[in-house]
Amino acid sequence: MGSVNLRAYESCTLCPRKCGANRLAGELGVCGASSRVSVARAALHLWEEPPISGITGSGTVFFAHCPLHCVYCQNREISVRSIDSDANPWIDRAISSGELSDIFFDLQANGANNINLVTATHYLPEVVEAIERARSEGLAIPFLLNTSGYESMETLRALDGLIDIYLTDFKYADPALAQRYSRAADYPQVVKEALAEMVRQTGAPKYRDGGEDGELLVSGTVVRHLVLPGCFEDSLAIIDYLGAEYGSQIALSLMSQYMPLADSGEFPEIARRIDPHGYAALVARAEAMDFEECFIQDPSAAIEDYIPAFEGL
Ligand code: SF4
Repeated sequence: MGSVNLRAYESCTLCPRKCGANRLAGELGVCGASSRVSVARAALHLWEEPPISGITGSGTVFFAHCPLHCVYCQNREISVRSIDSDANPWIDRAISSGELSDIFFDLQANGANNINLVTATHYLPEVVEAIERARSEGLAIPFLLNTSGYESMETLRALDGLIDIYLTDFKYADPALAQRYSRAADYPQVVKEALAEMVRQTGAPKYRDGGEDGELLVSGTVVRHLVLPGCFEDSLAIIDYLGAEYGSQIALSLMSQYMPLADSGEFPEIARRIDPHGYAALVARAEAMDFEECFIQDPSAAIEDYIPAFEGL
């Protein structure tokens, strides 16, 4: 762990795209981000997995832009490169690491059970500085990195000792699916290596008694897999891989909340909800394994209420 120099923005390789944009000179990376840290929303979020949200909520900080750009993204309002700055004035308001740290304290004061950094690592220098500052000034709740899993090893190592909980996606096992839906054929290899590093850093999940909030996660790695329509075999391959490689070292969250938000002309095969019978079969497969915990969703979770409103700070 340690601070990350702002020079990292000069020829950026913070994520596996390694696009080399000179963000300090105002260039935008493939992720769409300049060197101005944009926060789209900071608020208590009640719909993460129960030991993350508890009753009072997870202190989520949604960062704008994203290196991955999945075609079905639920947060496209803030993740795509062409964010409309007229409709979203927060996009041009740069947040300093000190302000970010203040946001963490505000969330803690409002009852957050953790600080949940959503798609944060393209702003790694300020994020590291803000975490270190908050810790040194007495912030007591865990830091959680909420990530697509498309992370470089260098970036994860810079976070070693700073992140208590990794909440990571594992989207695809098949490079062809990763290419079609996220333009990242290397995703399966990247996420496997990233997950190994995350579990090495956190160890197996640990909880504390949160009183009315129930059992709360204090450290560990939770792997989310969003089930996509027509991709049953890929989901099965992911569950089998995670069970065999990690078992009780991780918690698995099998998500049914997929919404058909992709362009239905270009991606007709995923322009529908998932099959509930297929989802039930995947749940049965996962529950037969040795995961430390297996979170599942009712298929009625596929509603737009799960998509937060992004109104800035
Ligand atoms: S974080 Fe953004 S600018 Fe940096 S390498 Fe990735 S896509 Fe490029």
